[in-house]
Amino acid sequence: MDLGLAGRTVLITGASSGVGLATATMLFAEGANLAVCSRDRARLIDVLRGYGIDDAHRVFAADCDVTDASAVTTFVEGAAAHFGGIDGVVCNAGRSLMAPLDETTDDQIREEFELKVFGSWNVVRAARKWLAASGVGAVVNVNAILSRQPEPRLAVTSAARAALLNLTYSMSELLAADGVRVNSVLLGLVDTGQWRRRFENSGTADDYQTWSGEIAADRGIALGRLGTADEVAFPIVGLLSPLSGYTTGASIDVGGGVARYI
Ligand code: NDP
Repeated sequence: MDLGLAGRTVLITGASSGVGLATATMLFAEGANLAVCSRDRARLIDVLRGYGIDDAHRVFAADCDVTDASAVTTFVEGAAAHFGGIDGVVCNAGRSLMAPLDETTDDQIREEFELKVFGSWNVVRAARKWLAASGVGAVVNVNAILSRQPEPRLAVTSAARAALLNLTYSMSELLAADGVRVNSVLLGLVDTGQWRRRFENSGTADDYQTWSGEIAADRGIALGRLGTADEVAFPIVGLLSPLSGYTTGASIDVGGGVARYI
């Protein structure tokens, strides 16, 4: 099936690991050009090279902290100049803060909202004119089921993600006039760098499969396991495709059946 992404340019934030890396790999295989960033360009380039993504014409890699609006503008303009435009944006960079509300400092709360809300809005605002010029412009915000179903141990992360989900609806209305679609994927628990780091810091004597299987059972994940980054990348790529041309303001759950909200 031709997804209509070959020769298109997609900008992905946080592409050196997990979901961002899987999305970059899938899009590259589809023939798309990649504009990618993380806060450590050398590591980003190294990791991508390990996945066979090593083509100066088709890859533009930058150091960029998505909470820094001016750095984001420099990244977006650099990418657009390199490729002559931008057709898709994946706002993926991020992490979560594992802490209950009464153990979270005000600075941590501000940082969490900075990362989730400005981590998308800075990028979408900077890329807006290029997406509008594309004719098939699309944005995917990588978010979490927590945006609809908060967890006490991730209280502030949940609230920041609810803000992003709400903002995504407003972005979809704002950009629709230019023919640009804006959608979300809402993740449950996905096996990426974040979970590997938690496993390493957990001090458990179990192996990773046993440890993560117990977490899946504890959280009530119907499929009984964590998801894979590829299982998230696929719906992201699908939403970017012009074949999804009538889908905007939507959110797709990728949570293995963990969502309990209606
Ligand atoms: P990883 O930790 O595997 O990768 C995160 C990526 O984002 C890295 O490339 C990292 O590189 C980059 N990054 C982090 N902060 C910034 C920043 N401020 N500016 C630019 N780049 C940044 O994460 P996942 O793949 O697990 O997560 C991807 C997205 O999915 C995140 O937004 C996360 O919150 C969300 N999510 C993940 C879930 C999961 O279970 N994995 C669950 C729900 C949501 P570097 O550190 O070098 O900058």
